Amino acid sequence: MKLYDPDATCAKCGQTPVASRFCDRTGEWWPFGPDKIPHPRAFTTNGHIHRTCPRCDFDWLELALDSRELTPEEVLQRHQERRAALGLSPVERS
Ligand SMILES: [Zn+2]
Ligand SMILES: [Zn+2]
Repeated sequence: MKLYDPDATCAKCGQTPVASRFCDRTGEWWPFGPDKIPHPRAFTTNGHIHRTCPRCDFDWLELALDSRELTPEEVLQRHQERRAALGLSPVERS
């Protein structure tokens, strides 16, 4: 995930400026669900920023300035904790 850039340009249509909305979720689980290993791209220590293009509706995530991406090991550990909280067995590491 790229670090937040207040002057970002839409990759699809070139629009500037694009909207910004901070999101304090440290993991975006959907659309993968608790049974799948989630996409590590969306896992951060202090949240991320949703960017939305007002012209073409393209959206993407950027890393909040005080946040960092979790390592794959941290993501897997967090995922296993979530599965355990749901009463599910751990995912096998592939
Ligand atoms: Zn656009
Ligand atoms: Zn979010």
